[in-house]
Amino acid sequence: MIQLKNVTKVFHLEAGSFTALKPTDLHLKKGEFIAIMGPSGSGKSTLLQLLGGLDLPTDGTIMIDGVQLEQLNEKERTLFRREKVGFVFQNYQLLPMMTVAENIALSLAAHKAPKAEIDATVERLLREVNLEGKAGSFPSQLSGGQQQRVAIARALAMKPKLILADEPTGNLDRKNGQDILQLLSRLNREEQITIVMVTHDRQAAAAADRVIVLRDGEVAQFGLEGVS
Ligand code: ADP
Ligand code: MG
Repeated sequence: MIQLKNVTKVFHLEAGSFTALKPTDLHLKKGEFIAIMGPSGSGKSTLLQLLGGLDLPTDGTIMIDGVQLEQLNEKERTLFRREKVGFVFQNYQLLPMMTVAENIALSLAAHKAPKAEIDATVERLLREVNLEGKAGSFPSQLSGGQQQRVAIARALAMKPKLILADEPTGNLDRKNGQDILQLLSRLNREEQITIVMVTHDRQAAAAADRVIVLRDGEVAQFGLEGVS
């Protein structure tokens, strides 16, 4: 499903260049639930952005579901992201001036799906994340846990094969965090969606099939052993 060969990310700054990801080889299987752990600044978000085509590697190749990411032009990359990848962020990143339904429908609307189809999909997704009745609410009227469930519904709208989640429980209390983890686990199990989740939380990581630990921009180990 996901194959990284020699993937490197260097940021060029005024003060010089900084290697956020050292040459990395990784193979993630279809349907896997992967947790990425590691100290702050170890390159976790950088890796996730590369996996989702939000950013391009300085060197190396990324193959996702048969698509060679660095060979796409910008327009193709935008379409790839919209159609194949669902993103979930720590701070939800919902649009505040749009309702829950409008937030969820963004990609569908961008694809000019018919209104009846959009409405039916939004209703189904709201049920799936247990938010029936909230279609007309604005993000500010929801709790953090509810906003994150809207973000997951939005991520699901295009039926992605891959969900990339960057500390999805980072802003939530334990109970709401566990609800989000359960939801992600169920999507992984029942809909065979491949999930790559960055987390600081050992308990959250334990929900995954496999843990990858980054340190100083490289894969330091697989598994939780010795990780605090
Ligand atoms: P993590 O998510 O593990 O905390 P990041 O992937 O966000 O770490 O960042 C890894 C390193 O790369 C950090 O030192 C960070 O400052 C640097 N970095 C990340 N994004 C940029 C950028 N756009 N420009 C310059 N440096 C960056
Ligand atoms: Mg990060």
